[in-house]
Amino acid sequence: MSGKPVPVEIKQSGVRELRIAWSDGQVNDFDVVELRRSCRCANCVDELTGAQILHPSQVGEDVRPQTIRQVGNYAFQVNWTDGHTSGIFTFDYLRQLAEVPDAPSGPAVAEDGAGPRAGEEKGAGGGGCGSHGCGCSH
Ligand SMILES: [Zn+2]
Repeated sequence: MSGKPVPVEIKQSGVRELRIAWSDGQVNDFDVVELRRSCRCANCVDELTGAQILHPSQVGEDVRPQTIRQVGNYAFQVNWTDGHTSGIFTFDYLRQLAEVPDAPSGPAVAEDGAGPRAGEEKGAGGGGCGSHGCGCSH
């Protein structure tokens, strides 16, 4: 027992969604285009600096996995419809990707209690005298 979750099922669950079910019960839907953009092979990421060579705009929205092949007991090798075949997605990496939320789950409101400030406007109508005894010359 290695203790590491491994995929027990991988299938296309939508037009551009790949669903992976893990041995620990977790199920993740991956956007295949995002996956392609997250490729970390030597052609997409500089092995020395870790800098991404692949620019997201180089990956079309219509890219799809053509074939997905399991490599050993640790990764998938994906052949993409854009001709990219050197991408390896390790299970660890997929789990990492799965844990990054694609949107913040809630507003980051920390402070509470100040309450709305009830700004009482001092009544208008002070302009001009309008009445006797104010001092201005009638
Ligand atoms: Zn790549």
